[in-house]
Amino acid sequence: MNRTPDFAARLERVRKAMANSGVDALLISLGADLPWLTGYWAMPLERLTMLVVPAAASEMPVLVVPELEAPRVKPVPEVFTVRPWAETESPVDIVASLVSGSTGAEPAIAVGDRTWAAFVLGLQAVLPRASWRRASLLTGPLRAVKDAAEVEALARVAASADRVAAQLLAGEIPLLGHSERAVSAEISRRLLAEGHQAVNFAIVASGPNAASPHHDATERVISDNEPVVCDFGGALDGYCSDITRTVFTGPPPAELAHVYEVVAAAQAAGVAAAQLGRPCSEVDRAARAVIEEAGYGRYFVHRTGHGIGLEEHEDPYMVIGNEEPLTAGNAFSVEPGIYVPGKWGVRIEDIVLSTPAGPERLNKADRALTIVGG
Ligand code: ZN
Ligand code: ZN
Ligand code: ZN
Repeated sequence: MNRTPDFAARLERVRKAMANSGVDALLISLGADLPWLTGYWAMPLERLTMLVVPAAASEMPVLVVPELEAPRVKPVPEVFTVRPWAETESPVDIVASLVSGSTGAEPAIAVGDRTWAAFVLGLQAVLPRASWRRASLLTGPLRAVKDAAEVEALARVAASADRVAAQLLAGEIPLLGHSERAVSAEISRRLLAEGHQAVNFAIVASGPNAASPHHDATERVISDNEPVVCDFGGALDGYCSDITRTVFTGPPPAELAHVYEVVAAAQAAGVAAAQLGRPCSEVDRAARAVIEEAGYGRYFVHRTGHGIGLEEHEDPYMVIGNEEPLTAGNAFSVEPGIYVPGKWGVRIEDIVLSTPAGPERLNKADRALTIVGG
């Protein structure tokens, strides 16, 4: 049913990028680069897990993994071999000898951004003539272009989040008289019930708390006639969801209703600007222009969006200054907001996929101003 990831094709893209940037060896440890390339998530432990990818296509990458975790590795024989290390061995020495065995005396090494400093320092001590750079310089742009299996996975997890958003909009999630924390727990429960395997966050920000974009749900009890910003997401098969809907527990005052329409128009403008070949910054500029024209520019305090995939936040970022052109397969949020401190806030967020036919929202839950009952 689910499309199998083509790890061999990803490895080929990685090697092309290594050749283009003169990298002799890529060392990948914790974080999302490893599962993207191999399907394996390493545990964030004091024991080293590291994939060694030599530049030469003739040399098979080697996954150096603690012996006790080796049974968790699902083999992908066309992409890597496994080198389990015993408790009495030095995994840093194993990695260093794999690197020296396949490169010259002064290898250019790209090391995973999430590798523990303890291992990086250890590797630098045993490979004193190597030069070092961040692996994300190679993997970030590659991972930003989703392949068919990833697009499918993102659509699946977005649909699951949409079902919870629809329940929120239909008033099926009780708000009035409940604490933000209780509503957050209920949203989390429903994400799992609708197919998510993990909940990463469930922001519930009501009344004046809605002015804080990353508000932690509190014991504040939601009362009538206020906005409630609900921003939630999690993961299914490793791929992340992220959606925000702002609902109202009673008819909002005229200014707040107007602000809601401004944010909805800004969000639509941001999505519409996401055309292939246009710089990422234009998505931000388009959304921001709508809010600025309405006179609320100084209350839109964050970038318009972030890439999403195996990580909640990854390349590409929809922010002023990012002049990278949008590419088919980019997946990212468009999430403008207006936050008036001490009063209220509104945000609307969808995940959008860049396609040759134009931007496609993966989240389809209604965006019309919605008043929910008790
Ligand atoms: Zn956020
Ligand atoms: Zn969000
Ligand atoms: Zn987001």
